[in-house]
Amino acid sequence: MPDDRLLSINQVTTRERWTLEQAIDGYARHGVAGIGTWSDSVRALGLQAAARRIREAGLAVTGHLVGGLLTDRDPAVRRTRIDDNRRVIEEAAELGARCVVTIAGGLPAGDRDLAGARARALDGLAELLPVARAAGVTLGLEPLHPMITAARSVLPTLELANDWFEALAPGAAPGEAVPGLGIVVDVYAVWWDPNLAREIARASGRICAFHVSDWLADTTDLRLDRGMMGDGVIDIPGIRGMVEAAGWQGMREVEIFSARDWWQRDPDEVVRTVRERYRTAV
Ligand code: ZN
Repeated sequence: MPDDRLLSINQVTTRERWTLEQAIDGYARHGVAGIGTWSDSVRALGLQAAARRIREAGLAVTGHLVGGLLTDRDPAVRRTRIDDNRRVIEEAAELGARCVVTIAGGLPAGDRDLAGARARALDGLAELLPVARAAGVTLGLEPLHPMITAARSVLPTLELANDWFEALAPGAAPGEAVPGLGIVVDVYAVWWDPNLAREIARASGRICAFHVSDWLADTTDLRLDRGMMGDGVIDIPGIRGMVEAAGWQGMREVEIFSARDWWQRDPDEVVRTVRERYRTAV
């Protein structure tokens, strides 16, 4: 039975119609317990103001975005990205976020060297990990769906996320938690993977966020056409069972990028639907 106290919503789910302030108030009004936040919205409102308002609304911050995007070759761009990550880490600390949702970044324009892009992402993570640790923040490695490898993430599987985790924390025993480092399981990114059960088990004790939405059978966009839980093909309760067997007891964060459908709707209706589907399809 889904526990309402474990329901969080990523603000991207309502971001076309609600500002961060409206989302904080709206989620709290509907009895949602947590929020996932984005840097651009937090900066627009002001970090201190955002942190205060979220605290006063009684919401947990289940993740803060966007960390990572570390694949650029150009040293100046790369430096800018590292600096932005430092700022995102500071924000996450101030917000009390459970993790910074960290994605690898795609292939730079004109680049075909996938191995090089992966190496640069991993180097960047190694540079940021001590920064996160010093701030008491966890970098949550989030693999994304392989169809957006070029555009967004050269980290396309949970297996590779586990490999990177181990590379960043040499010497950690299997299943041992590592300060400052975690793994984000987003059902939309990993549901298709024949090795999913094995790799979730391998991430035992290391999962720092669990994201839900659904894969629409007739999807029209690989990034911005996520479905409401229950409208697509993902066995969400099955995957939730796997992450819970791997020790995850935290919140379930609903994260729906939906340019053609949910972003167009009245956000109160969206949040009401999220709550219903959380009970029946998560
Ligand atoms: Zn996600």
